[in-house]
Amino acid sequence: MDLLLPRRCAGCGAPGEHVCARCREVLRSPPRRIHTRVDTHVPVWSFGPYADTHRRVVLAMKEHRNLAVRRHLGAVLAAGIRHLQARGELIDAPVLVPAPTRARHARLRGGDPVAAVCRASGWPVVDALRHGDRVADQVGLGVEKRRENLAGAVQIQRLPGAPVLLIDDVATTGATLAASSEVLFAAGCTVVGAIVICHA
Ligand SMILES: [Zn+2]
Repeated sequence: MDLLLPRRCAGCGAPGEHVCARCREVLRSPPRRIHTRVDTHVPVWSFGPYADTHRRVVLAMKEHRNLAVRRHLGAVLAAGIRHLQARGELIDAPVLVPAPTRARHARLRGGDPVAAVCRASGWPVVDALRHGDRVADQVGLGVEKRRENLAGAVQIQRLPGAPVLLIDDVATTGATLAASSEVLFAAGCTVVGAIVICHA
């Protein structure tokens, strides 16, 4: 493919690398605590706002089988987890649980990109959660509608068997993370927090 299409940075479009040195530097900044409009019941950390480099890299990650960007974000995620552990903010050695995605969308994108990023981090990953069939697309819904839409719609498909760190690409209202932690708590799981690539 490199012969047909010049390789461009996912973050800024500069020719040459999948992620250029400048954008790598932006993505190196450690995750910070954020506060979402919906109470997620667990601490949430984000690598940055849904804008500029982070936004473009998340969009590139969702492109069909963009493996290079998913691998890079996996390394970013692993470094972020090490950072939080070194600061004592994350105590347990968790398993990563990707936030649920609608299966049809995941297939269209060439597999669930968030799960692929989790796997690229080197941490154990359990696909514990899935959306029920009746959940509608969240795009365009307000906070309350998102909560209603998700209530009862996130289901457990496998028990994680260890403390859970939830992972998602973008936190908007926090409704998906809230529904995910609620269903995991109800199943008797421990959820230590959530990390998102960026927050809107
Ligand atoms: Zn760049």
